[in-house]
Amino acid sequence: MTETRFSGQTAIITGGESGIGRSTAVLMAEWGAKVYLTDIRQLPENTARYQELGISRSTGDVREEAVLQQLVDRAVAETGRLDLLVNNAGVGMVKPVTEVTEEDWDFCMGVNLKGAFFGCKHAIRQMLKGDGGSIVNVASNAGLLPRAHDPLYSTSKQAVVGMTKSLALCHAKDRIRINAVCPGPVGETGMMDADIEKADDSDQFIHDVIHASPGAAAWNRMITPEEVAESIAWLCSDAALMVTGTMLAIDGGKSLGVPPAS
Ligand code: NAD
Repeated sequence: MTETRFSGQTAIITGGESGIGRSTAVLMAEWGAKVYLTDIRQLPENTARYQELGISRSTGDVREEAVLQQLVDRAVAETGRLDLLVNNAGVGMVKPVTEVTEEDWDFCMGVNLKGAFFGCKHAIRQMLKGDGGSIVNVASNAGLLPRAHDPLYSTSKQAVVGMTKSLALCHAKDRIRINAVCPGPVGETGMMDADIEKADDSDQFIHDVIHASPGAAAWNRMITPEEVAESIAWLCSDAALMVTGTMLAIDGGKSLGVPPAS
């Protein structure tokens, strides 16, 4: 049976050209949503599939509020509504605190937090005019359990978690749901590929990343972007109508604590 869960609905996805964002855009369009995506770049390998699915693409930097405002306004002008937003655009930042520059701060917090915050602002502005909506912020397992090796990234994702809860509490009365997913380690993503490329020993790095998550270790693989997209789509859908302010870990138990010795 064809899945039509999002038929007649309009969705915006940021950072939709690769990894988790690409899988989410494709899945939500396959399930009937009219998808508008924005990203800082456009990848030619997506063109045929996105055209086939009627996905509308634009280039823009989520650090600029105007980009998000215009995207919401365009989606509403063309479809008359906005039902769903996935704040997915994000960047990694692996540096000890002593090496983090002000520029690094502005970059990482700008994409990961400011972009998500102003995405929420403009989506909520529109959703308040209609009959509510659903927003999913892509945080990270680092948003649940901060990590030692990337304090700035961990800070940005912890802030996304706090923002998600605050907005969820404020707007449940308006039928606007705001949740977050906290994935990782996710393979086949630009973020993970960049870390693998930087590693001195890429095989050892991949082994270590997988074994930092008990579930990933049990399956001997990373989480896939499609697995994250399925959870995002579920949170967006009416199947999760009473779910708001939830941080859904998709991390094979990584953020639960210290696993048993193997
Ligand atoms: P990715 O690099 O494949 O995807 C990120 C996308 O965001 C890219 O298409 C990139 O071009 C876009 N982007 C970056 N800066 C942007 C900007 N300023 N404006 C607009 N678009 C921008 O990596 P991914 O892993 O799919 O990342 C998606 C989200 O998942 C991020 O928020 C990331 O923090 C989060 N995440 C990833 C992992 C992982 O293991 N890969 C784990 C936890 C959380």
